[in-house]
Amino acid sequence: MPSLQWEKAHVAALPQLKARLLANENPWGPSPNARLAIMEAAKGGNRYQHEASAQLKTMVAKFEGVSEDHILLAPGSSDVLEKMAILHFMRGGNLVAADPAYMSLIVTAMSMQAEWKKVRLTDSWAHDLEGMAKAVDKDTKLVYICNPNNPTGTLTPADELRSFCRNIASEQTTVFVDEAYLEFLPNPKEQTMVPLIKEGKNVVVARTFSKVHGMAGLRIGYGVMLPGMVEKIEAIWRSNMSLCKTSVMGAMASMEDHDFQAKSIAATAAAREQTAAGLKKLGFHYVPSLTSFMIFPIAMEGKSFLDAMFAKGVGVRVFNVFGKDYCRVSMGTPEEMDLFLTALEEVLV
Ligand code: PLP
Repeated sequence: MPSLQWEKAHVAALPQLKARLLANENPWGPSPNARLAIMEAAKGGNRYQHEASAQLKTMVAKFEGVSEDHILLAPGSSDVLEKMAILHFMRGGNLVAADPAYMSLIVTAMSMQAEWKKVRLTDSWAHDLEGMAKAVDKDTKLVYICNPNNPTGTLTPADELRSFCRNIASEQTTVFVDEAYLEFLPNPKEQTMVPLIKEGKNVVVARTFSKVHGMAGLRIGYGVMLPGMVEKIEAIWRSNMSLCKTSVMGAMASMEDHDFQAKSIAATAAAREQTAAGLKKLGFHYVPSLTSFMIFPIAMEGKSFLDAMFAKGVGVRVFNVFGKDYCRVSMGTPEEMDLFLTALEEVLV
C-alpha cells in the first residue's frame, strides 16, 4: 500500500488505540490553570483576539529576553516552519538540513522546488556541523537544525551550534533552529539560540506549547527572529488572524503554571526511564533520548511492525534511518508504556 494510504488507515485506527504513542503528544496536559483560562476565554469568543495576542506577545518577549518586535505568534510552530520555508524558497535555492530530521519545513521547502542538501547525523547522533557548513553555498537560503533532534531525541552541543550559527547566519542564509523539545533538557536557558538573535544574527528559533505544555491540539507556538524577518512574514500573512483566543489565553496561563511544567518534565523523564529499562530487558539497543520520545532499531520490516502494533492497540511510528527501520515511541503514561512494552515483546521478541 502506498505510504499515504496506510497512514490514513492508521489515523482511522486512532480512536481504537489503547496507547497513543505516535505523535509526541503529552498525556498530562493541558495544565489545570490553562483549562480554566480556556473556559473563561470562550465566554469572550464573540470578540477578536487582538488584545489577548498582544498580551501573549508581551509575555513571550519578556520570557525570551527580547523586544516584542522579535516575536511571531503562530497557531503551532508548524506554522512558523512552513511560513519560513515559503518565504525563503519562493525564488528557488537550496536548504541544508540533517538526515534524519523533522520533515515539516523540509517538505514545504521541497514543494517550493528547493533542493534539500542532506547531511547525515554523526555516529553520536549530533548534527554534523562541519559537514553542514561545507554544504552551504551561495544558493543556500536556509539551514534547518532541530535541537534536540526529532526523530532521534539527541542533542547537538550548544557551544558548537552557537559558533556554527555565528559563522553561517548571514543576510543571504538564515539558520532556523527548531527548539520544540528544548524544555525537556535540564538547562534550556543555556541551550537556546535566542541570545544570538539579540546579537543581530539572522537566526530564527521556533518554540511550541504542544510538548511540555501539553497543548498540541490547541495549536499555539511562536518564532523568535530579527524584527526585519517578522516584517517580511507580516507583509504576506496577517499572523494574528490565524490565532484563537482560547489557545492564546490558555498559553498565558500555562506559562505561569510552573508547577505543571515541572510535573510534565518529571513524568516524561520517568517514562523515559521506564521505557529504557523495559527495552534493555527485551534486548533492544535504544538511542539515549533527552526528549519525550525514543528510537530503537527493529529487526522486522517497518510496515508489518506498525500493523502488528496497531492491531494490539499501540500506536507508534517507524522511521527509516540510514537504511534500517527504527521504531519511534512517544512517552505516555506508565500504563501506556507498559502496554507498549508488552505489545513489543509479543510482536518482536
Ligand atoms: N518541530 C518539531 C521538532 C516537532 O517534533 C513538532 C511536532 O511534533 C513540531 C515542530 C510541530 O509542532 P506544533 O506545530 O504542534 O507546534
